[in-house]
Amino acid sequence: MNLKQKDRDLIWHPFTQQKTSPPPILMQKGKGAYLYDDSGKSYLDLVSSWWVNLHGHAHPHIAQAIFNQAQQLEHVIFAGYTHEPAIRLCSALKDLLNPSSPLQKFFFSDNGSTAVEVALKMSYQYWRNLGHCDKRFFISFCGGYHGDTFGAMSVGAQSHFHQPFKELFFPTLSINFPETWIEDTEIEKKEQDALSALKDILFTYKNKISAIILEPLLQGASGMRLCRPEFLNAALSLIKEENIFIIFDEIFTGFYRTGTFFAFEQLKIAPDFLCLSKGLTGGFLPLALTLTRNDVYDAFLAEESNKAFLHGHSYTANPIACSAALASLELLTSESCTRSIADISAHHKEFCQELKKYPEKVEKPRFLGTMAAFNLKADADSILSMQQKLLQKGLLLRPLGNSFYILPPYCITSQEMLSTYQSIEEQISQL
Ligand SMILES: *Cc1c(COP(=O)(O)O)cnc(C)c1O
Repeated sequence: MNLKQKDRDLIWHPFTQQKTSPPPILMQKGKGAYLYDDSGKSYLDLVSSWWVNLHGHAHPHIAQAIFNQAQQLEHVIFAGYTHEPAIRLCSALKDLLNPSSPLQKFFFSDNGSTAVEVALKMSYQYWRNLGHCDKRFFISFCGGYHGDTFGAMSVGAQSHFHQPFKELFFPTLSINFPETWIEDTEIEKKEQDALSALKDILFTYKNKISAIILEPLLQGASGMRLCRPEFLNAALSLIKEENIFIIFDEIFTGFYRTGTFFAFEQLKIAPDFLCLSKGLTGGFLPLALTLTRNDVYDAFLAEESNKAFLHGHSYTANPIACSAALASLELLTSESCTRSIADISAHHKEFCQELKKYPEKVEKPRFLGTMAAFNLKADADSILSMQQKLLQKGLLLRPLGNSFYILPPYCITSQEMLSTYQSIEEQISQL
């Protein structure tokens, strides 16, 4: 069978303008930080396959856990039934959280968007169950991305991905995200403006807001945009004074992407809901969790079923996915893994210093944990051609607009990092 022709005939790819985009590359194999196409050409996966992969491709420890579980129990309905991998996964995650963490209850779903829907619906229904029926609004940050289902799109309304659907969204109140970078001189002003916009909203919509949702410290999809922890501490302490829930979408930032296990460990304020997916299974299988507090859970307890959270997905808590997640956590908490995360971060820091050599071509250099990014002062065609040249060299990168970013799996070596930076610098100097 001519696979590439069949792909063209049959398959509609995500986030793709099928008319203009080149045919997709046919991948046949993955190993460590590399992918291999049908001609045997290798690609260093510098986007961790859309931010899901943590330990490299086809990692034998996770593959083995999947094989074992598939032979034991592949799936079972999760309403009225349970299983060991789900229970073990939630206790392992609970052990990783601070013992005083308010996040004590775990609700499963199967992707990032559904984890967000669950948090939005739970927070809204919590207030209803308590008799507060007019808390219809959510707050979010401009540029926040929370997924492609309708609730998730509504709270990501300012994202350019969702333009065609805007008329159908529920109302969301958005605040500017005071993005920052190395040697940003205007950050104080941006933060003050965002805080006063937040104060205005809290005053105007008093008792009408269910929750605020945000990607803590790092907005991924809108171009790897950072904000300062000081800002979030200040903004969230204003929220805390009102009856408003805090939802942290750590679908991207979780699992050491920002240098700590969860990004919120770098903040003073804990969330009431935490959404996890992407790296949860190490990038092997779709799985998601929404964590919340005991008192939220308690507000759904009643004799009537209409107070319950009547929400679920067919593959909720799939046992194979839970086993993959457990195996991934074992790798993630190993000393060698935490060491390479620190190494990646140190290399990123140096690279950002290097980028100062190109003030005409590069702006806003920034890094956090295992993510480094910069913006190119170039038009879309030059950026695309730079991406293609790097791809020819076997470097898989996927800029977001004019933001170039590097987000490798944690098994990448120092040598691979350094030669990646070098290739990128070569392309920058040729721009
Ligand atoms: C990717 C992403 C989502 C959506 O996850 P899907 O699994 O693609 O539905 C939500 N929030 C953030 C921050 C993400 O990066």
